[in-house]
Amino acid sequence: CGIMGYVGSGETVSIILDGLEKLEYRGYDSVGIATIQNGRIKTCKTAGRLATLRKMLTETGKRSGAGIGHTRWATHGRPSERNAHPHLDCNQRIAVVHNGIIENYQELREQLQKRGHIFISETDTEVVSHLIEDYYEGDLFAAVRNAVGRLRGSYALAVLSADEPDKLVVARKSSPLVIGLGAFENYVASDIPALLDKTRDIYILDDDELAEVTATTVRITKADGTAVGKEVFRVEWDA
Ligand code: GLU
Repeated sequence: CGIMGYVGSGETVSIILDGLEKLEYRGYDSVGIATIQNGRIKTCKTAGRLATLRKMLTETGKRSGAGIGHTRWATHGRPSERNAHPHLDCNQRIAVVHNGIIENYQELREQLQKRGHIFISETDTEVVSHLIEDYYEGDLFAAVRNAVGRLRGSYALAVLSADEPDKLVVARKSSPLVIGLGAFENYVASDIPALLDKTRDIYILDDDELAEVTATTVRITKADGTAVGKEVFRVEWDA
């Protein structure tokens, strides 16, 4: 299972697929990607191999901007296209990829259903996109921070919003996540090998940290909102 995200003016789809390929060693049963096109979130998913997803995406043409991709190792809900990540909110403005397990997803799902949210997958992950939607008031970072405050379990999360198309928001607890620093482009990934042919300058997120990543900035905070001043980790080894 793995996460790869990109924000910049490069070829988002192929950068994400290449990164996911380097995480294939972790194993997976389904794959999916979300990018933004004409102000809307576009997803492409399959309960198959990365090569299949790559073929499905050849006709869509080149896309740049922010995007997130995922290889899934199903824990809640069988491997299927519907259960593959990214998962969206009701209005399809927010896309989420997740590695880990949301332990209190049933309770959250019931609460969100009472508030009118309609779920389409069997995953634990789908509560996260709806929870972020529920908190969203024009500030994706704040909404993700509020949402993760409600989660129990383990997660590496990467979040994309059609309303804030120039950024990714990421969060982690007990599941690895790193941020790769480029020139006018930045990356997020589950693990350093996914990034080594792009950059060797990395921020390693710690538990209970969140980050807002644009093409030129990275802002890291603790779950309580306090700023984190993190050193850049320079990778000296090869994959
Ligand atoms: N628990 C999530 C699911 O089953 C994420 C699994 C993963 O880490 O790939 O969809």
